[in-house]
Amino acid sequence: MEGKLIIISAPSGCGKSTIIGHIMDEGTRDLRFSVSATNRSPRPGEQHGVHYYFLSDEEFKSRVSTGDFVEFEEVYPGRYYGTLRSEIESNLKSGHNIVLDIDVKGGVNVKRQFGDRAISIFIEPPSIDALRSRLEGRGTDSPEVIEERIGRAEYELSFAPQYDCRIVNDNLDTAIRETAEVIDSFIARK
Ligand code: 5GP
Repeated sequence: MEGKLIIISAPSGCGKSTIIGHIMDEGTRDLRFSVSATNRSPRPGEQHGVHYYFLSDEEFKSRVSTGDFVEFEEVYPGRYYGTLRSEIESNLKSGHNIVLDIDVKGGVNVKRQFGDRAISIFIEPPSIDALRSRLEGRGTDSPEVIEERIGRAEYELSFAPQYDCRIVNDNLDTAIRETAEVIDSFIARK
């Protein structure tokens, strides 16, 4: 049987990476992570081929023109991210399920292409105010950057109704459990 796609999107600061990391690390499910391509620079600790395929602007453009992407988006001005066909097709054919951590437009696009073979999960904060306190609590961003992130979060939240399933991350353990349950029942579905 062919594998399935699990699409996960969320505004930044909603704990998406933590939730995905936990579920993948449990190691109890046949899940492979779809490594995206991007033209942004690696952050400290990020490895090519593990976190992303880090491409130059030219390489990214050339792979767009050769049709190598299932989808790609300019998620931030000048910063492109895309899902490579090669990354998902062979895994799907050999029956592995694939987790895609992609932005809202990419998520809706992939769901449209794959229909019932994909589930789209949206992780959301309990409220915009809760997200603001969380970002302020991290102490890593200036007030201007926080307001920018909030503005973007509001835009991203407007896509939530297009997702198959919404998980509110109020309590991390609960959000992990709920996400895992959604994934398990989707994988078990014939
Ligand atoms: P970051 O630069 O923080 O790793 O990721 C920024 C955003 O890009 C996140 O919302 C992430 O989900 C999104 N993203 C990562 N890979 C892809 C991709 O292949 N396609 C799309 N559309 N978005 C992606």
